[in-house]
Amino acid sequence: MSIDLPLWFDPAKCLIGGHWVAPAQGGTLPLYDPSTGAQIGEIARGTGDDIDAAVSAAEAARHGEWARLSAAERGRILLRLGQLVTERVDELARIEALDVGKPLKQARADAVALARYCEFYGGAADKLMGETIPYLDGYTVYTLREPHGVTGHIVPWNYPMQIIGRSVGAALATGNTCVLKPAEDACLTALAFADLAKAAGLPDGVLNVVPGLGAEAGAALTAHPGIHHISFTGSVGTGVMVQEAAAKNVIPVTLELGGKSPQIVFDDADLDAALPFLVNAGIQNCGQTCSASSRILVHRSVHDRLLDMMAARYAALRIGPAMDDLDVGPLISAKQKGIVSGYLDQGADLEIAAQAHMGALPDGGYYVPPTLFSGVKSDHALAQSEIFGPVQVVIPFDDEDQAVAIANGTDYGLVASIWSQNGARQMRMARKVRAGQIFINNYGAGGGVELPFGGMGKSGHGREKGFEAMYGFTTLKTVAAFHG
Ligand code: NDP
Repeated sequence: MSIDLPLWFDPAKCLIGGHWVAPAQGGTLPLYDPSTGAQIGEIARGTGDDIDAAVSAAEAARHGEWARLSAAERGRILLRLGQLVTERVDELARIEALDVGKPLKQARADAVALARYCEFYGGAADKLMGETIPYLDGYTVYTLREPHGVTGHIVPWNYPMQIIGRSVGAALATGNTCVLKPAEDACLTALAFADLAKAAGLPDGVLNVVPGLGAEAGAALTAHPGIHHISFTGSVGTGVMVQEAAAKNVIPVTLELGGKSPQIVFDDADLDAALPFLVNAGIQNCGQTCSASSRILVHRSVHDRLLDMMAARYAALRIGPAMDDLDVGPLISAKQKGIVSGYLDQGADLEIAAQAHMGALPDGGYYVPPTLFSGVKSDHALAQSEIFGPVQVVIPFDDEDQAVAIANGTDYGLVASIWSQNGARQMRMARKVRAGQIFINNYGAGGGVELPFGGMGKSGHGREKGFEAMYGFTTLKTVAAFHG
């Protein structure tokens, strides 16, 4: 049992106060390769004791050298970190592919995105400004944006590098210190990133990482009275618990809780241009993407033609171990395979319009067949629940109003796309569809780190990415000076 990669850090340790330390209670958790189901190592099982130590280290660090650095100097550290990540992109990609089961090219794209977050927030660090406010005669009034202090970051297993980049990157750029709890199923790149941050010159204690179970280390972090802000990405159920814990300490929370995102295809859409986006947005990362497009709403007049086109694309999908770098890898865990298989069973009453061929796969891997269901009523469980697997449903509509009603007819509102050549229709739909990001004749816009991202409804609240995230990681102070 060994990790078949040259790791430059010890995954059975936590990074606290700049030191690699074994968890206080000495625990470890098994590390599995999703592509084979085999145990390949052990990671640290941090607990409340380690979270206490990490929060203390972050509290001390926020009053130390870090507090005295100028915004430009903080930015330079992030830029150096981005450079170190760039130099290690291939290694990080291999670690992530092994740990998460995602095809290498996706893992590489995640590593490139992590470097890009460091660049973006490194460059933005000294460009966040307050305002002067015209007020009564004799006063000068201005605002200051200050860091919250110690920020908690709970990161899931689906895109560890991207989610760490967007949340830790923005928190550091604005002068906060961080305690990061990665998911027990995918903590390796969090540890790798923290080690690179140390090498980039981040002062000790500014970024602390405690791997462990959600119910232990995660719950201890969210309830900790020494945390001043918490940023969480994951399920609605856990998000509610995080928000309840934060409410008890009266601290702000950013919640990114996934979605049931629609792509809406009108009769005047360029179907050839739409096709790769329609399918890829459902199967990328084996469907384990918060912004996955799991609902395809299509105008009835082009429904059958589009189904045929999607079915041909599904038939060409290649499934296999992450290191084989095909189109679709395994799910993250046996637990996730159970969840997705349960949804596939719930589709027994539906028509399967397409299903990818599984071929010969390692026995113990967590594979499920990418599946496209048609003839789905919009209130069916498969059209309402976040499945978090490679499962898409196709729902026909007759006019714009009906398309809007179906698109907005779930609890979620993360992203949506509109495929149409009609400019007025694009504008109307962009206004009416409930989602934090709307794409017109594309899906995802290349994932730009510059683009504010976050949900409406049960997709969560607060915005990450872009400048908007930096507002979220600061608190505003108004200074009113009377000088007569
Ligand atoms: P969770 O929401 O439980 O996990 C997300 C993160 O929260 C992980 O780091 C987890 O740690 C941590 N966590 C778990 N319990 C607690 C807690 N009590 N207090 C604080 N942190 C906690 O999701 P699951 O991994 O269980 O996945 C279940 C479903 O959640 C998926 O099928 C999918 O629908 C959704 N999901 C959505 C994501 C998104 O990007 N929007 C990401 C991941 C999941 P640990 O993993 O170590 O338990």
